[in-house]
Amino acid sequence: MSKHYEALLNQLHKINDIEKAMAVLQWDQETNMPAMGAQRRVQQLTTLSEIAHTMFTSAQTGELLAGALEEQAEADFDSTHASMLRVTQREYNEQRLFSAEFVSRKSAITGTAGAAWAQMRADNNFADFKKHLEAAVAIAQETAEIRTYDTEPYDALLSQFERGMTSAELRRIFDEVKRATVPMLQAIAQRSDRVDDTILQQAFPVAEQEAMCRYGAESIGYDFNRGHLGEVHHPFSTSFGRDDVRITTRYAPDYAMSSLFGTMHEAGHAMYEQGIAEDLDRSPLGEGASLGIHESQSRLFENQVGRSLGYWQAHFPKLQSLFPQQLANVEVADFYKAINKVQPSLIRVEADELTYNLHIILRFELEQALINGDLQVADLPTAWNDKMQSLLGVTPPSDKQGVLQDVHWSQAAFGYFPTYTLGNLYSAQFMESAKSQDPRIEQELAQGKNTFLLAWLRENIHQHGNKYDAAELCKRATGKSLSAEPFLQYVRGKFGELYGL
Ligand code: ZN
Repeated sequence: MSKHYEALLNQLHKINDIEKAMAVLQWDQETNMPAMGAQRRVQQLTTLSEIAHTMFTSAQTGELLAGALEEQAEADFDSTHASMLRVTQREYNEQRLFSAEFVSRKSAITGTAGAAWAQMRADNNFADFKKHLEAAVAIAQETAEIRTYDTEPYDALLSQFERGMTSAELRRIFDEVKRATVPMLQAIAQRSDRVDDTILQQAFPVAEQEAMCRYGAESIGYDFNRGHLGEVHHPFSTSFGRDDVRITTRYAPDYAMSSLFGTMHEAGHAMYEQGIAEDLDRSPLGEGASLGIHESQSRLFENQVGRSLGYWQAHFPKLQSLFPQQLANVEVADFYKAINKVQPSLIRVEADELTYNLHIILRFELEQALINGDLQVADLPTAWNDKMQSLLGVTPPSDKQGVLQDVHWSQAAFGYFPTYTLGNLYSAQFMESAKSQDPRIEQELAQGKNTFLLAWLRENIHQHGNKYDAAELCKRATGKSLSAEPFLQYVRGKFGELYGL
């Protein structure tokens, strides 16, 4: 009855094995590999990526897919069979759009631009980076044309990361966030002395930070029997299958909280992957629904749980026992305030919950203008600085702390940044629904626990893997389409109280 489907699945399993082997090589590259190994590693990854791409886009896969679609025509939309075929077919059609020539040309352009970015950022040299960024914008525009779109090219880029989302919809939602956040920030700036975070700026020994990060990840539900915590320069999480999902962090000797919140963030991503249903593993369904949904899980645990008063009332004694010299005489209420200080800054990755989205909205607005041709790369540094001033009230003293701070544009990853703010918005909407559907969640969170919350996420988000688009998943879990309102309510409540607004 399911002969074709089984044959297709067998092929998808093998392709997935190759992709996961690539993930192992990439993880090793970031964590253990000596720098001299870089050249061989690029060759190994390129070879595996070509094998996976060729297998997936082959006529053989196409025939298996066509046979399976015919055989499973009656399968229910929610079933694993129907979802597997729906997602595989979409992926197959998309990957077949790009010629081998285009793929290798794009990879050469972004490879060169990425290396140039690292050097020219270090040298604060936008003038020489300009031509690389122009090439990256051009290849992104070409990508949009190949993928095709209804109204604007940016939609085609956005859909690579957040299927189904449009620029128009994002503008509507992001404008709402901007309108609410900018005046709040101005009010907070008048009262910045209400929150003091100097207790966080002390020496925190790295050995104890490691113990703290392990404790933090475990306390929110990350399963170390199916996980691993490593150390890297740029933290990430990666899955080799639902039973081996690894996280990484970075330790700053004079600021303990960045390693802890970074760990909780990556653990949130990893718990999503650990919670995907077993029968979806080793297939195109065995991953998150979108980057925005993925980010919702990391931000939920980093911020809504990790930066909550309930969590710290329960877990602060543990932190004090690890750092008695630094924290023995600190009240938990003061610690809670310190980790939530709002401070407009130049650098996105260091931003607090309130200013973070403005860093993203700035990039979203500039990206659209670049892709539509309304803004030239040569004018980008000035446009960046103007927007920093109008949104956050700060102006970068150099391009290094401004337009050159992220690697992503050199990778032609336009349409990617918005998923960060989408993650913040989804996380608040999920939390609101979870609490209203199960009152035990709120009680537990107030005691620093989250087993019922995790159970809700497993049931409504995690187990489904990549079966549904983000919009559909959101509607199924919360009964509503994505809205900025739950997030705005959350920040109004939290920061209103912290700053007496
Ligand atoms: Zn993340």
